[in-house]
Amino acid sequence: MNTQQRSYLSETAEQIKPSGIRRFFDLATQMDNVISLGVGEPDFITPWNVIEASFHSLEQGYTAYTANAGLLELRQEISKYLRNNYEVEYNPENQVIVTVGASQAIDLALRAVLNPGEEVIVIEPCFVSYAPAVTLAGGKPVIVHTSAEDDFKVQPEQIEAAITSKTKAVIVCSPNNPTGTLLAKEELIKIATVIEKHDLLVISDEIYAELTYDEAFTSFSAIEGMMKRTILISGFSKAFAMTGWRLGYAVGPKEIIAAMTKIHQYTIMCAPTMAQHGALEALRNGNTSVQEMKTSYRQRRNFVVKALKDIGISCHLPGGAFYVFPSIKKTGLTSEKFAEELLKKEKVAVVPGNVFGESGEGYIRCSYATSLKQLDESMKRIDRFIHEQV
Ligand code: PMP
Repeated sequence: MNTQQRSYLSETAEQIKPSGIRRFFDLATQMDNVISLGVGEPDFITPWNVIEASFHSLEQGYTAYTANAGLLELRQEISKYLRNNYEVEYNPENQVIVTVGASQAIDLALRAVLNPGEEVIVIEPCFVSYAPAVTLAGGKPVIVHTSAEDDFKVQPEQIEAAITSKTKAVIVCSPNNPTGTLLAKEELIKIATVIEKHDLLVISDEIYAELTYDEAFTSFSAIEGMMKRTILISGFSKAFAMTGWRLGYAVGPKEIIAAMTKIHQYTIMCAPTMAQHGALEALRNGNTSVQEMKTSYRQRRNFVVKALKDIGISCHLPGGAFYVFPSIKKTGLTSEKFAEELLKKEKVAVVPGNVFGESGEGYIRCSYATSLKQLDESMKRIDRFIHEQV
């Protein structure tokens, strides 16, 4: 008899590592008096009118499944919102799918387009889910690294150099998590030229689109010729402070949205109905709240960037999202060690840059989605910590 315990795990599941962000959350929650700049979510509560709309939908008995692709009314509102804000035109009948967060939209998009072994270009540092999501969909992530010298902006030549006969898609995220980098329209046009030349798809994660502070946001899909090559992904988590509602969407070419809806139908059925009713209200009447939160984020961004400069650590000015990504290279510590020691000694939780990819080594991600008072205190603690190191 074979006494060795058999592993029931798939090779793919074994291959994927747990996200490095969680480890720091877990450490931080075990300690008192910690200021967390670690979390990638708004510190605001969802606007009250959105909460109320969701309550009312339950009171009115909307407790059943919706259409697989989501409430038609919501798809119509998403379509209108994208047209009014980003000048892109999608048919709510067959080019929009409502998902369980942008996270599920990314997963569905990859599963709908990838054949086993096909490659997807992932531009790092980036949101921790992209590479594992490609692997889970049977594809192969091919990493392109950006650097602080380029403001963490990918150069079109870098994308071109990573393309092989197996390349199917590129994941673009602007404004970016963790760097906050916003790509300008001219930069997107240059990327689009490479995409067109090599007949590729773009999965454009535009979840931070509303949160830009100096320059206007341009959707990748709005670049000439790119609508038919783009799966545009967005959601309600960030701009509307709705992370816990788990609601996002994807829009794109109708055959891709149909394939995504097919997978969604068998795996999820539909996004939560009450959350969809809340999202309807968010799109219809949420703009004032979004603008108020955005004003506050801008103020906090300016405060943190200045404070970091005063401390003497270099940090590029992020154009969007709610993160700064300063360099901690001058301390001589690795990102992991820096984050660990800062948490232990000064009780400030940040995320080590390397969890967002190799090119994030030497940096930390600080989320400024927390009060100015907390930010002020955390900057004092970081100042003290840094000056103990150097
Ligand atoms: N994309 C990016 C770039 C993100 O930062 C996040 C959340 N941290 C997501 C997608 C996932 O968002 P959701 O809550 O809609 O799943």
